[in-house]
Amino acid sequence: MRDPRYDILFEPVQIGPVTARNRFFQVPHCNGMGYRDPSGEAAMRRVKAEGGWAVVCTEQVEIHPTSDIGPFIELRLWDDQDMPAIARIADQIHEGGALAGIELAHNGLNSPNLISRETPLGPQHLPVVSWNLDPVQARAMTKADIVDLRKWHADSVHRSLKAGYDIVYVYAGHAIGGLHHFLSRRYNNRTDEYGGSLENRVRLIREILEDTREIADGKAAVACRISVDELLGDDGITRAEMEDVFGLIGEHPDLWDLVLGSWEDDSVTSRFGPEAEQEPYVTGLKQLTTKPVVGVGRFTSPDTMVRHVRSGILDLIGAARPSIADPFLPNKIERGDLEDIRECIGCNMCVSGDFTMSPIRCTQNPTMGEEFRRGWHPERIAPKASDSSVLVVGAGPAGLEAARALGNRGYPVTLTEASRVLGGRVAREAKLPGLSAWIRVIDYRLQQLDRLDNVEVYRESPMSADDILEFGFDHVVIATGSSWRNDGVGRWHTHPIPVDSAADVLTPDDIMAGLRPKGNRVVLFDDDHYYLGAVIAELLAKEGYTVTLVTPVPQVSQWTTNTMEAHRIRARIIEAGVEVRTDTAVTAIGADGVDTACRFTGRAGQLDTDSVVLVTARLPHDELYIALHAREDEWSAAGISTVKGIGDAWAPSTIAAAVWSGHRFAEDLDTPPDDAPVPFRREVTQLSIEPVFRAPVASV
Ligand code: ADP
Ligand code: SF4
Repeated sequence: MRDPRYDILFEPVQIGPVTARNRFFQVPHCNGMGYRDPSGEAAMRRVKAEGGWAVVCTEQVEIHPTSDIGPFIELRLWDDQDMPAIARIADQIHEGGALAGIELAHNGLNSPNLISRETPLGPQHLPVVSWNLDPVQARAMTKADIVDLRKWHADSVHRSLKAGYDIVYVYAGHAIGGLHHFLSRRYNNRTDEYGGSLENRVRLIREILEDTREIADGKAAVACRISVDELLGDDGITRAEMEDVFGLIGEHPDLWDLVLGSWEDDSVTSRFGPEAEQEPYVTGLKQLTTKPVVGVGRFTSPDTMVRHVRSGILDLIGAARPSIADPFLPNKIERGDLEDIRECIGCNMCVSGDFTMSPIRCTQNPTMGEEFRRGWHPERIAPKASDSSVLVVGAGPAGLEAARALGNRGYPVTLTEASRVLGGRVAREAKLPGLSAWIRVIDYRLQQLDRLDNVEVYRESPMSADDILEFGFDHVVIATGSSWRNDGVGRWHTHPIPVDSAADVLTPDDIMAGLRPKGNRVVLFDDDHYYLGAVIAELLAKEGYTVTLVTPVPQVSQWTTNTMEAHRIRARIIEAGVEVRTDTAVTAIGADGVDTACRFTGRAGQLDTDSVVLVTARLPHDELYIALHAREDEWSAAGISTVKGIGDAWAPSTIAAAVWSGHRFAEDLDTPPDDAPVPFRREVTQLSIEPVFRAPVASV
């Protein structure tokens, strides 16, 4: 039963001509599927609609080939050829019971047009502001270009209505939607009626809103997504200026969707920003319009949501990440099942799908991006197909998720853990600076396991091959994790490096176990490139060590460009006093210093240090797996039919991958063997019905 305190979240909200059945609004978010995997996206959006979101939106939809942000994969509505995909998504959202929103975008300066090869368009002649710093310049738009843009946008609105969308967006946010560039003094230095005064800089947004409203004509609502502050002071859009924007066009759309700065500013990880971080920026804008307002803030707490509505900050609770981690978040609040909510941990692994152009994944929700291709669902799983018993060895994220999902299927499951603490690497890493929210990966699963009578959990129960053969389970799952290496092997060195026997060398496991460098000076060699190297550098620096972070790549925690954190990580370790040597490898470790080599020239160098921390690579704990497979002839006597490795014990990877791997084991158990080479459905581009070459018009 719903807690009456949350009733307000389930009130309907009128958005122009349409009504949202409650206040839960899945704002547009990228997902790495887009035009390449439209059915995958349709299924993903439908699951959210089913989960109780009153409105479910697409990500940005490119309205024209001059707005091509390739290589990133979003949706397109360049012409009618894109209609079937766009319509399928709307249909699925409707089938799930939600209103469908479409975020129409002309990306202006943000689109390098690598695929279309059209000239990018912007308010002035400027290099494109694309993520890959493409060596491409945009051309200052002429009046004729502006007329064209209005027509392209109008065409896309017509198509959106035809495809069945209920809410049509005008996108002026995140420095992605090109209208943002017109609004911002940072990008707009025009001297005509589209530049200069705020009234002029807002003109194009106003015109496009008016065009859109005229076409929508009561058949669909018009939303405007806008950045309320660019966080650049007077060089960009300011919050004070936004109040004047509302004075000029506050009544133009049927809905305001408020975002903060660029996407990096808006989707901050939990390491760098709390829930509801946008609150001070959006507070007060709702009072300047009669139209409803939606905003985000990585909201997972219904109390925070209620406070935002009651105090007049927002009308609708916007969510991208919380809806990814738990597509059924609204339904769970409605049913009063708060402890079932899979809370977003704010890691931005989901964002990496977009940046790596691969289908969206989520640390908390392993079914995300797998709805169409593998038929997985966040709340449903097939009942067990046999009476087999399962032993899961190791209670890290992989083992916990396997036990949870197998338990949900109804199998009798025994989960054994060597240590007292459940959670494996997550329990350890969540104690590091900035990572406390990650414990939710464990909390959620332990909470769920608590309710499953068919899952037994044994702590302090290290299992050997003898133990396992003695107990005799039908299926054995090895989820014993991995350890960080102390020999320097990683990406740069594929063989161990020389280490003096008198040297003080530590790994992240040592640090997390509470060991500390013997001396004050520490060289941390990061050849992993995700978060851990910089987190440990920060930890040690804050504890008073003099830390030099050495990495063979140009950027600290380079992979975190995919989680939009690299710039913040760098700032944080600079502030913590960590010295950084990029493009440098540690090549040998002595008792009181390390040898280094320049990545480009190989030029040798030295760094004096008392201790070294190696964050390079991990080795799987696969001894148990290997030992059991070596004794396969004993399995049948013990009643064992399969022994499988999952998670880091199989191949060390991310926490998201470990959770996914545990889930996959559970989904696949007892499914009939399938010898298809591809273990999931694919949507393969249909060949053109036109001939490969057009007939030449004249010979040369
Ligand atoms: P993953 O990310 O794959 O889940 P983790 O390293 O986080 O891996 O977790 C592995 C867990 O397995 C750890 O908690 C570890 O204590 C436990 N473990 C390792 N070996 C054994 C074993 N032989 N018996 C029981 N538990 C084990
Ligand atoms: Fe949240 Fe991380 Fe999942 Fe993204 S990947 S929704 S940030 S838990």
